[in-house]
Amino acid sequence: MAKSKFEYVRDFEADDTVLPNCWIVVRLDGRNFHRFSEQHEFKKPNDDRALQLMTKCAQTVMQELEDIAIAYGQSDEYSFVFKKKSRWFKRRASKFMTHVVSQFSSSYVFYWKDYFKDQQLLYPPGFDGRIVLYPSNQNLKDYLSWRQADCHINNLYNTVFWMLVQRGGLTPVQAQERLRGTLAGDKNEILFSEFNINYNNEPLMYRKGTVLIWQKVNEVITKKIKLPKEDEEKEVEVTRTKTKVVPLHCDIIGDQFWEEYPEILAE
Ligand code: ATP
Ligand code: ATP
Ligand code: MG
Ligand code: MG
Ligand code: MG
Ligand code: MG
Ligand code: MG
Repeated sequence: MAKSKFEYVRDFEADDTVLPNCWIVVRLDGRNFHRFSEQHEFKKPNDDRALQLMTKCAQTVMQELEDIAIAYGQSDEYSFVFKKKSRWFKRRASKFMTHVVSQFSSSYVFYWKDYFKDQQLLYPPGFDGRIVLYPSNQNLKDYLSWRQADCHINNLYNTVFWMLVQRGGLTPVQAQERLRGTLAGDKNEILFSEFNINYNNEPLMYRKGTVLIWQKVNEVITKKIKLPKEDEEKEVEVTRTKTKVVPLHCDIIGDQFWEEYPEILAE
């Protein structure tokens, strides 16, 4: 096809091909979800509907896009790890980031009603995205550990904070004052002595966040088949192996997870 005289403007596009052999991480985060969560009456400190919707969107991203080995989410954020050897979109950073964020955002709106039932979506939410490369497996594990440690620190703080407000009758400012300078041990102690809560018994999804991995699962389905020599259709049960995105709420900081699922880092 003949080129127009305008074609030259394409040369202004910057090359954003990312380095070979590195893990490509895309992390997205809800825009101003402090406000979004208030306006949509999220249960504090952890709204299950919101967490499950986030995970549904992340599963959709993994299924729709190529080469995602693992994802990790907590609060209003999700990280997606693309395989080191991925050649998807010739490794163009903007393609990875924009496809992840737009697929996630449209899924958030699309699946909203499945999780929030009567709670109407009041305005279109947005998500930001960033991309980071990690050259070694250890760097990648440390990245994921960092996000899970962040989940733990925030969730412990939020759990005590909202206990002090909801059951302790403190104002948010008073609760903030009360927690200023406290260490993890102090927060555990407040929960235990004042509210009879053992933090370690709080749901794993809140304390550890959500890990999404691919797993082979056996599915039994009934199939209608028509045998060549017979007139009627027959129903038969067939087992087939499918690869599915499975959510886990487990520790990923220690070695155990990586020993149990060595295939994640394998290629
Ligand atoms: P920014 O645009 O900078 O990300 P933000 O308000 O989204 O601003 P974050 O640091 O991302 O700030 O914090 C997310 C906020 O969303 C938290 O304050 C938290 O209260 C709220 N939030 C997210 N998920 C949930 C949930 N499942 N249940 C309750 N609150 C939630
Ligand atoms: P890619 O993911 O590479 O962008 P694509 O299928 O979206 O693949 P485009 O070059 O973006 O490819 O072309 C968009 C296609 O969408 C066109 O082929 C066109 O047929 C279709 N399309 C978009 N908008 C309309 C419209 N308003 N009416 C009819 N067809 C449309
Ligand atoms: Mg932020
Ligand atoms: Mg946010
Ligand atoms: Mg956040
Ligand atoms: Mg195109
Ligand atoms: Mg297109």
